[in-house]
Amino acid sequence: MVYQGVIRRYKNYLPVTEKTPIITLLEGDTPLIEAENLRVSLGVDSKIYLKYEGLNPTGSFKDRGMTVAVSKAVEEGASAVICASTGNTSASAAAYAAKAKLKCVVLIPEGAVALGKLSQALIHGAEVLAIKGNFDDALHLAREISNKYPVVLVNSINPHRIEGQKTAAFEIVDSLGDAPDYHFMPVGNAGNITAYWKGYREYRKIFQEKRKLKLPRMMGFQAEGAAPIVRGHPIKKPRTIATAIRIGNPASWKKAEEARDESKGVIDIVSDKEIIEAYRMLSSVEGLFVEPASAASVAGLVKYVRQGYFSQSSTIVCILTGHGLKDPDRAIKVARKVRVVKADLKSVANQMRL
Ligand SMILES: *Cc1c(COP(=O)(O)O)cnc(C)c1O
Repeated sequence: MVYQGVIRRYKNYLPVTEKTPIITLLEGDTPLIEAENLRVSLGVDSKIYLKYEGLNPTGSFKDRGMTVAVSKAVEEGASAVICASTGNTSASAAAYAAKAKLKCVVLIPEGAVALGKLSQALIHGAEVLAIKGNFDDALHLAREISNKYPVVLVNSINPHRIEGQKTAAFEIVDSLGDAPDYHFMPVGNAGNITAYWKGYREYRKIFQEKRKLKLPRMMGFQAEGAAPIVRGHPIKKPRTIATAIRIGNPASWKKAEEARDESKGVIDIVSDKEIIEAYRMLSSVEGLFVEPASAASVAGLVKYVRQGYFSQSSTIVCILTGHGLKDPDRAIKVARKVRVVKADLKSVANQMRL
């Protein structure tokens, strides 16, 4: 059968009925890539898989949640949606709202959204308001507006977002035939770690009669300058180059701690330097271009391999949450530079050291 998006594939496990109008851009069904080169570079004998969520229609995993949130908003008769965003939520909301013919308003922290993401929200026709504040201020405002006015909030505090996002855990289990032993991912507002943990637990229950599925240890990573869960208090001025996880007071804080504790996992820190190292490694060794926040999962893996955390051969999945083209400025800053040469054969051959 032709692929029809996450709602149709997993409708039995999602809050939809025959009457729900399905707004989809055919999100999901992303590849789970075996990272053999990365495994060799790290010198481990575990199997490492990368779930490349950057291949969703708007370039991040947010689409999985947005298809459900926007479909439900249409079912409920909404005419407008609103979100606060570090960029990817707004890109996704704007695209799905366009498909659903809904008005879309996005609140972004002024000057803190990567160029690719901003261009998406604008070209899909969203009304973009830059707030003179950070993401947490923007989310507070979006919540207030949705409480006072007939506008549906499509941030991950909307439970339909989490429902849609949990389908990525289903896909991993469907691909591997079981859950992995370790699940590495970045943590920002903490909706996604909540969604994955919910997905793994639910799928285990669904299959329990047939076979016993594993539950992974949830390994979440915050950026050093934006690590409220690790520090144990909100961060007033979160700082990191990984803009998608530059969040000082995560909405799903408690749920993230539950995922960590119930799974016997960790929520830990990676520095911007470690994030950039992983970012370069993924693009140069695996041919996978991700945005910096996505590299936090692999930065976490590298850190734990170096600490000797893995005592036996295991199955490891790292989530690559968003595409590298979202933030081209960062790539240009950290990559080798363009060299200018004369337009003649000799000069080019010289430069190539031939
Ligand atoms: C939103 C986002 C995150 C963080 O996810 P949360 O659910 O906020 O924890 C990480 N990476 C990318 C690319 C994102 O868009």
